[in-house]
Amino acid sequence: MEGPQIGSLDQARTGRFIQQLRKELGLTQRQLGEKLMISDKTVSKWECGSGLPEISLLMPLCRELGVNVNELLSGQRLSAADYQRKAEENIMSLMKEREENVKKIRLSVFTGVSTTATLIILVLLVGFYAGVMSLPVKLLVIGFACLQFGAGLYVTMSMDKEAGYFKCKACGETFKPTWRAYLWAPHTITRRWLRCPKCGRVTACRHVMSRGEPDGQER
Ligand SMILES: [Zn+2]
Repeated sequence: MEGPQIGSLDQARTGRFIQQLRKELGLTQRQLGEKLMISDKTVSKWECGSGLPEISLLMPLCRELGVNVNELLSGQRLSAADYQRKAEENIMSLMKEREENVKKIRLSVFTGVSTTATLIILVLLVGFYAGVMSLPVKLLVIGFACLQFGAGLYVTMSMDKEAGYFKCKACGETFKPTWRAYLWAPHTITRRWLRCPKCGRVTACRHVMSRGEPDGQER
């Protein structure tokens, strides 16, 4: 079963590559042979570099090994595979980004709720013990209550603003608004009226957790 002898093909390299891919898949020569309805000797021959697969076997072999013909004959994964790997990396980092942004949002909600609760509790406390507390103590407690509320509000808003992006309803552009735009924009829980830096229109921009996210995503 002599394979095609095409000019610059490096049989030994292709052979090593076949062996490497087969081992990555945890297959024996026999198991790979069975999938292709050929003998383990043929697989062994390829791997030793003494013969390339027949043309009719190239496609099925590549399918089994998860590479394309070009890569098999080159004896290495090529840019197509690199692109795919890159794409997978991108998806992973997108997922990670999303996860981190969701955490930010949760933390921002938690901060907002807890600092508001603290403010209310301290104000009630001062009201309740009004008769017992001296004026400086009252002022101190109220001052502290306002200060922690202000700080909490700032943390809440900056985390909300920095988590993910706002997505233009008109053109789909994702962007981070400036503080000024963020603060002045009317908003609901998930949308904020902002001017898109790309198309310049003011739309009810959805707060998305990552750039690749389709519209209508919950958060
Ligand atoms: Zn736009």
